[in-house]
Amino acid sequence: MRWDGNRESDNVEDRRDENGGGGSGFSLGGGTIGIGTIAVGLVAWLVFGANPLQVISALSGHQSAQTQQPPAHKPPADDREAKFVRVVLADTEDVWGGVFRQRGGQYQAPKLVLFNGATPTACGQGQSAMGPFYCPADRKVYIDLAFYRTLQDQLGAPGEFAQAYVIAHEVGHHVQNLLGISSKVDAERQRSSEARANALSVRLELQADCFAGVWGNHADKARHILESGDLESALNAASKIGDDTLQRSAGRAVVPDSFTHGSSEQRVRWFKRGFDSGEIDQCNTFAERRL
Ligand SMILES: [Zn+2]
Repeated sequence: MRWDGNRESDNVEDRRDENGGGGSGFSLGGGTIGIGTIAVGLVAWLVFGANPLQVISALSGHQSAQTQQPPAHKPPADDREAKFVRVVLADTEDVWGGVFRQRGGQYQAPKLVLFNGATPTACGQGQSAMGPFYCPADRKVYIDLAFYRTLQDQLGAPGEFAQAYVIAHEVGHHVQNLLGISSKVDAERQRSSEARANALSVRLELQADCFAGVWGNHADKARHILESGDLESALNAASKIGDDTLQRSAGRAVVPDSFTHGSSEQRVRWFKRGFDSGEIDQCNTFAERRL
């Protein structure tokens, strides 16, 4: 991915040398197979979660045995990863600014918080093990950069454009928030059965994937960021974090009713639909009979 020298966003809030507000972290790296397995299972299960509160309550049951304080951590002098995040976030600001303008609106950019281990959010205590997430209540994207190692080494999805897709997906949730889609879906989920609530969550997640694709389309047209193999790396990431693939690799039965993010095939297809068209109107997952 070509991004060196591109504009960097001012909307990144760096909390990496804070200790997580007194909260306990959840080990991601894992010195033992047990912790690693649990951490990967959780990360996998929760990757790109749209509902941190739900995630936090799910996590709390697992914390007693494996909690540990996040290590004190100073960002490296050559902080290339943070620079990368600032560039990608700036790119989403430029693209979504243009898309909103074109439709007569005004884009309000989200903040992005870098943290280590744990950090307070308006949606409750954020934890690394949740994977990157978006909190609608404070309009912030949260990411522990250790997730990029998990993505590459444990989930098998390397590549900068795959990493950019992670950010673009979370920004996609912010766009849904601005468009009033998230609150509608949330209200609907409240009065739904669990299976239906999950089905609605899948539609929301696939739309965020599609929005990430829309970003990729515009970003590449404007700034030629894609190199050979980049698109494949994002599609591979989308595939590796499909619910069916994650359930299978966690050694569980594949249960479509329990899906909250969509199957690998669906995630790849909706990202591609956004990427190929560059049109948010192509991302109406709620109007499709078959996803
Ligand atoms: Zn998501």
